[in-house]
Amino acid sequence: MSVSYKELGLVNTKEMFAKAVAGGYAIPAFNFNNMEQLQAIVMAAAETKSPVILQVSKGARKYANATLLRYMAEGAVAYAKELGWEKPQICLHLDHGDAFETCKSCIDTGFSSVMIDGSHLPYEENIALTKQVVEYAHAHDVTVEAELGVLAGVEDEVSAAESHYTKPEEVIDFATRTGCDSLAISIGTSHGAYKFTPEQCTRDPKTGKLVPPPLAFDILHEIEKKLPGFPIVLHGSSSVPQDEVDTINAHGGKLPDAVGIPEEQLREASKSAVCKINIDSDSRLAMTAAIRKHFDENPGHFDPRQYLTPARENMKKMYVHKIMNVLGSDGKAA
Ligand SMILES: [Zn+2]
Repeated sequence: MSVSYKELGLVNTKEMFAKAVAGGYAIPAFNFNNMEQLQAIVMAAAETKSPVILQVSKGARKYANATLLRYMAEGAVAYAKELGWEKPQICLHLDHGDAFETCKSCIDTGFSSVMIDGSHLPYEENIALTKQVVEYAHAHDVTVEAELGVLAGVEDEVSAAESHYTKPEEVIDFATRTGCDSLAISIGTSHGAYKFTPEQCTRDPKTGKLVPPPLAFDILHEIEKKLPGFPIVLHGSSSVPQDEVDTINAHGGKLPDAVGIPEEQLREASKSAVCKINIDSDSRLAMTAAIRKHFDENPGHFDPRQYLTPARENMKKMYVHKIMNVLGSDGKAA
């Protein structure tokens, strides 16, 4: 028994990406695997009237249960309307689909967009796998994100020791032969809260904090020239806010030298053909910082609502900040 995302009030990425590329902004893709994260995402998107992509990874499906997550996304649309967002533009997207069967099962159960990540495969095999997913997805009006180039870092079950930048000379051939709707590229972003080793960074002499190497904007611009107007996606684009890291470390945590992508660079990328920016670690950090602080200050509390309320508020604040001050997607789904 399969269900179309259209029956659930979700949208695919086609229109939101076309508008984002033309308008010089990017759509936030926030990962979720629990209720508080989802509430915070919907509250932030509804308040700012920003189109939003709810991302579910393989790890999230394992953690929270795939069926439950899909009903939560359906509930998100109803909740958004209840919050006064008349025409919510919410996409339910599979992050890092690893096989045709995973993508098919998501499409059959209400996802409006899927990623097939064949980036670890030899080039021709990546094309064949992506093409197979595109054929099934497009028959159901579901959009497909593919990946070319390998990102370093760890995100749930996706991990790679080192990155391989996307080769601009391959993108036209890849996009044409696969028919994918968007392309995740590797230009120096990386998964997780430790995106760079201290050796890859310089150190700010005033604060002692690590300053990461800049993204490879030259590669991005070359890709844009090869595929004008084609939607580009950046994974691993959390900024790892140092105030959250400091809060965690001040309240019993231990995250030395956690470092992310500076927001100025993401702001610059948003103005280009980059139309989807993935943010996961920043939500984890915002939640953990608020919980650690709460427990430190209120050692007697044990009702989860007591510590999850500030955690949810802190995540929502972060999501609103990203939408309004980094991606520029506020007011685009009014
Ligand atoms: Zn990713």
